[in-house]
Amino acid sequence: MKYISTRSGKNQGTGITSAKAVIKGIAEDKGLYVPEQIPKLEEKPEALLHMNYREIANIVLSHFLTDYSWDELKKCVDSSYDSKFEVEEIVPLVPAGDAFFLELFHGRTSAFKDIALSILPHLLTTAMEKEKEDKKIAILTATSGDTGKAALEGFSDVKRTDIIVFYPHIGVSQVQERQMTTQEGHNTHVFGIKGNFDDAQTAVKKIFNGEELAKKVAEKGYKFSSANSINIGRLIPQVAYYVWAYVQMINKRKINFGESINIVVPTGNFGNILAAYYAREMGIPVHKLICASNRNKVLTDFINTGIYNIERKFYVTSSPSMDILISSNLERLIYHLSGGNGVQIEALMKQLDEKKQYQADQKIRNGLKDFYAGYATEEETTAAIREMYQQHGYLMDPHTAVAYKVYTDYRQESGDERPTILAATASAYKFADTVAEALLLPPEKDGFASIKSLHQHTGVPVPVGLKDLEAKAIRHRKVLEKEEIESTVLKTLAE
Ligand SMILES: *Cc1c(COP(=O)(O)O)cnc(C)c1O
Repeated sequence: MKYISTRSGKNQGTGITSAKAVIKGIAEDKGLYVPEQIPKLEEKPEALLHMNYREIANIVLSHFLTDYSWDELKKCVDSSYDSKFEVEEIVPLVPAGDAFFLELFHGRTSAFKDIALSILPHLLTTAMEKEKEDKKIAILTATSGDTGKAALEGFSDVKRTDIIVFYPHIGVSQVQERQMTTQEGHNTHVFGIKGNFDDAQTAVKKIFNGEELAKKVAEKGYKFSSANSINIGRLIPQVAYYVWAYVQMINKRKINFGESINIVVPTGNFGNILAAYYAREMGIPVHKLICASNRNKVLTDFINTGIYNIERKFYVTSSPSMDILISSNLERLIYHLSGGNGVQIEALMKQLDEKKQYQADQKIRNGLKDFYAGYATEEETTAAIREMYQQHGYLMDPHTAVAYKVYTDYRQESGDERPTILAATASAYKFADTVAEALLLPPEKDGFASIKSLHQHTGVPVPVGLKDLEAKAIRHRKVLEKEEIESTVLKTLAE
């Protein structure tokens, strides 16, 4: 299996190994790496029924990362999905209301990104050995809140790597910010920036694409890579949990072999839902992929009209990890839907850059019919949290609640009552202020007090990583102007 750039087209160049793609992060032509073909899951779900999460993850990874040996992957998987996760199953599937919640938030940082970011450092260091990489790797990450912390945890003290994280100083929750600013590890560097997530992501992409800075850091013995979901080492591990979820639905006798399901995903950068699409292409019977957005509903509009337009107001919402206008991984989807037309994708991305919008052609739009898209307002999100808790005693974080609201709309509009898996992407305690307010608890002085009050009220256990957070020492305090990002990277790596 070779990996090619979304902007180079099938016939140009011959592609690179997955190990090289994991090291590089993004392609030279600025495209994203995709597998030449999405592999089929040769194993029948019957054969997977008695496997644990690690075994299923090993199988899924082996189909995509064919240049890694089974044993190399096993080492990566076994050292990632262990007691770092607070539950034995790693990713439990919990019924509540009309859906099955795939709880992706039991890792160290209480958000779904732990699943991919706990294994990415292992995939990367294994790749560096395989490819005899002599440079150190500088991981640059722009975060809307959750990626940053999960990447910092994953890479903290990993040899021959440094990790630099940029987050929007206004626009992440207090708990998210504190998780990052208290990060330990000799190789971790964290900066707030005066701007929003798109500003941070654009600056980081610019650094990746700039040759001059790359030359300067090469002199210091470094090479850039990315822990954002543009790295296929991030994307592929996410496919595993959808395969796992489908198998659990059979195990729990909620569906029969071969029966189709729906999957709902609260979406920001389009990585998580793209992984669900990959699982579907591998052969998991999925009827609709339901893409849920908050008020920043650029994806809802795109899926419904074929027009992607980022010239619109940006809102800071209670589901900050979805406050995104430029959803990077959508480029991968439209590449696949276009039949691998890299020339077309390059043209569309150029339009997005220059004219702030593009329009998909009929072929791509036909492919989008497998998706349903909707969005939830702030009021609808808090109402969903409250009703779910009151009626079913289940606690949702705001991102998960956005997904549940959109799913409710889908059921009403379509009358489709297929068993449905909903990606529960964060612990409610990570956004305790919003959740406590939704449950009509009296306001508290800060996020930490809200965690305590929410716990007292619901009795739901507080994740370990959030329990002792308030007492931890702050180690990173710098807030930068957007213009300072580049020079800061250079300075940090020179130290
Ligand atoms: C990152 C994140 C999302 C969005 O996922 P994408 O893969 O960027 O679409 C949703 N919810 C939470 C809690 C997140 O951290």
